[in-house]
Amino acid sequence: MEWTDPVVLELCRRHGGADPETVIRELCRDLVAVCPRDSGPTPLRMLASFRNVRDIREAPIAAATGCSGYIVRENGGYVITLDDREPRGRRVISLGHEVTHTYFLEVGRRAAATLEEEHLCDVGGTELVMPEVRFTAFLRQVGVSMAGIELCRKEFEGSFEATARRVMELTDTPACFLIARVRRTRDEERRGAGEPRLRVDHWTASRSWPDRSCYKGVAFAPSSLVAEVFTQQDERAELARLGTNFHDGLYHIEATGYSYVKGADGAHRQVAVLLTLPEGHGTRGNVA
Ligand SMILES: [Zn+2]
Repeated sequence: MEWTDPVVLELCRRHGGADPETVIRELCRDLVAVCPRDSGPTPLRMLASFRNVRDIREAPIAAATGCSGYIVRENGGYVITLDDREPRGRRVISLGHEVTHTYFLEVGRRAAATLEEEHLCDVGGTELVMPEVRFTAFLRQVGVSMAGIELCRKEFEGSFEATARRVMELTDTPACFLIARVRRTRDEERRGAGEPRLRVDHWTASRSWPDRSCYKGVAFAPSSLVAEVFTQQDERAELARLGTNFHDGLYHIEATGYSYVKGADGAHRQVAVLLTLPEGHGTRGNVA
């Protein structure tokens, strides 16, 4: 990634670092170290106060803005507003993100944050909510499974999806996490044609996952385990073929169907899928 945002570059200059992601991660690590914890969630509200955040408000944020929180200057400090219609875990993730904005706000004033800054606030916020060292140690105890992700979520109090992403980022185990929902491909969307199908909406894989190609948009056969779990909205764990036109390998599949509420749109159904390699099978039979 090439960094061009002058505020990002100035932040690096001030903190004597060359890579903005490393700089923001270290700043957030230092902030967490002010109030270290052996267990339980990061005391984010207290850490926010050390960053000159005077108040954290929870109020509805217009769905049209597409954001789940924002930070403004007020009375020589900052005030953060979080969308009170978001589930608690998502509000925790948003709070970590907004607190990270304070590092950029102290560098310079501007009308709106750039995409570079937004990305770095995701990186920093993740470190605040799920600190790498503690998260890695906890994950080693609970193991990479849906149950393990859920235990991590309870321990650090982030959202399920953000927790799963963090697990994929930090684990040495070959694993891949997917969210699928009924949708058209982007191309079909543009043309306004095509039957919506159960497809991968977003995905993330661990460093050691053997298949490096993209899963986005890959469709599931109606007879596949994942499609059945989506329809039944239940939970299953099986050794099975994925049942897709690409990546149709033999995996240990854990799938959980659930619905989530998105703004005023009401409930949407989706399925979360964790893929791991069948024991003793290596990558044999997993032809992408
Ligand atoms: Zn932001």
